[in-house]
Amino acid sequence: MNTAEKVDPENTSQECSQCGELVGRDGSKFECPQCGYVRHADLNAAENLSQREGEPCTA
Ligand SMILES: [Zn+2]
Repeated sequence: MNTAEKVDPENTSQECSQCGELVGRDGSKFECPQCGYVRHADLNAAENLSQREGEPCTA
């Protein structure tokens, strides 16, 4: 079992807050090839979190 790699369970730092595309973040910059959304990676993650707070759990 590999536990050395830290994985964000919610993918909030990799998921585009605009279209939901999973994008591997490059340092602190988030750039979505799907919709062209560009944001600081931490701000994108924060937007994903704030959007999910109001949503019912669908897991
Ligand atoms: Zn996008």
